[in-house]
Amino acid sequence: MTHDDSDHHHEHDHEHGQHPPSDMELRVKALEFLLVEKGLVDPAALDAIVDHFEHKVGPRNGARVVARAWFDPAYRARLMEDATAAIAELGYVGGQGEHMMAVENTAGAHNMVVCTLCSCYPWPVLGLPPVWYKSAPYRSRAVIDPRGVLADFGVTLPDEIEVRVWDSTAELRYLVIPERPAGTEALSEDQLAALVTRDGMIGTARL
Ligand code: FE
Repeated sequence: MTHDDSDHHHEHDHEHGQHPPSDMELRVKALEFLLVEKGLVDPAALDAIVDHFEHKVGPRNGARVVARAWFDPAYRARLMEDATAAIAELGYVGGQGEHMMAVENTAGAHNMVVCTLCSCYPWPVLGLPPVWYKSAPYRSRAVIDPRGVLADFGVTLPDEIEVRVWDSTAELRYLVIPERPAGTEALSEDQLAALVTRDGMIGTARL
């Protein structure tokens, strides 16, 4: 997917590491400071909430989508045709997930997702983006040297496997559907979902 810098930049201007914080970020910081200052919120509780969305709720939703796609060929077809609608079938809707596209790993192709300009990420299915996803090195190198980035994550792909890098925008967010691991034919949908990792759905890990 080509990246239209001008459109992208105008659509949203969050999380640009090289720029001063946005008005919204400053408001959030001010609100957080006041809540803590007045003893209304415990900072440790805030951290726990962020951790919950970052590591538990979000990626588990995506894992349900992947497991359903592996388990139910008709669902997989709907997911590949219209990911937004298929994901909504499972109840995962909301901000930053209005326009979704599923990209499927195969024996011959591996998909990896980045947002080169900032940190666009499919919140309803993956939760909050990890810090490295928002980092300048990942954002720049994912496009220039995807195999090198994958190697940093411990993933070495044979040359015959094509690497496809998808650049997220405010208009379109991607969910990588990893290949179903071999030997999982007897597993239930719940058991399959437990195999799916967040990084597997960003494309920086293989299952
Ligand atoms: Fe972005």
